[in-house]
Amino acid sequence: MSTVNQPVKGKTSFCREIEEKSHQNIQSCYHCMKCAGGCPMNFAMDHNNYEILRMIQLGEKDKVYKSNTPWLCVGCKTCAVRCPNGIDTSKVMDTIKMETIAEDKIPASHYNIKLFYELFLDSMKGFPVIGGEGRNYELGLMGLYKLCTGTYFADMDLGKEMTKRGKMPFLPHNALKRRKGEIKKIFQRAKEKKVR
Ligand code: SF4
Ligand code: SF4
Repeated sequence: MSTVNQPVKGKTSFCREIEEKSHQNIQSCYHCMKCAGGCPMNFAMDHNNYEILRMIQLGEKDKVYKSNTPWLCVGCKTCAVRCPNGIDTSKVMDTIKMETIAEDKIPASHYNIKLFYELFLDSMKGFPVIGGEGRNYELGLMGLYKLCTGTYFADMDLGKEMTKRGKMPFLPHNALKRRKGEIKKIFQRAKEKKVR
């Protein structure tokens, strides 16, 4: 029986917990599939996003934590706009990622995705000498990622094409030149909030 067809008997404690942390009414999802229909990452996900919601309803925590679906969600919010029940699935996906990290249960196959997120956040602080604070510097980010993962020659064709189309400039944008230090302050505030 597929996940979606399995009957739910009341709200599970896992569902209650994720609802509380994501501020989304997961139980109200009736699997109309409109969210998955517009999801740009659906092709690469091992479960449709609404299947993850159903697993949460069923309390299938291990299955949810093992899925690559939350890690591939890019937070575009297409699902939120399309949902007739107002469920923002991206917030559910973010919550799952945070819970997986907090419980130290990230499958080894997802480590590089977590690493990419961390490098992305670091890159937003800017790079020594060349700067780039506040806006993604694609070339710098990819260079760091490849250095950390040892995947030096993977996706070279894609990289060349992106550079040719101006999607990966050689120098960072330096969008916050006149407001230097703003992003560092935001990171500092987030850190303080986490400690409290
Ligand atoms: S669009 Fe909303 S109600 Fe429909 S399957 Fe997706 S989350 Fe559930
Ligand atoms: S926010 Fe995530 S789950 Fe929703 S449509 Fe975008 S990529 Fe898919």
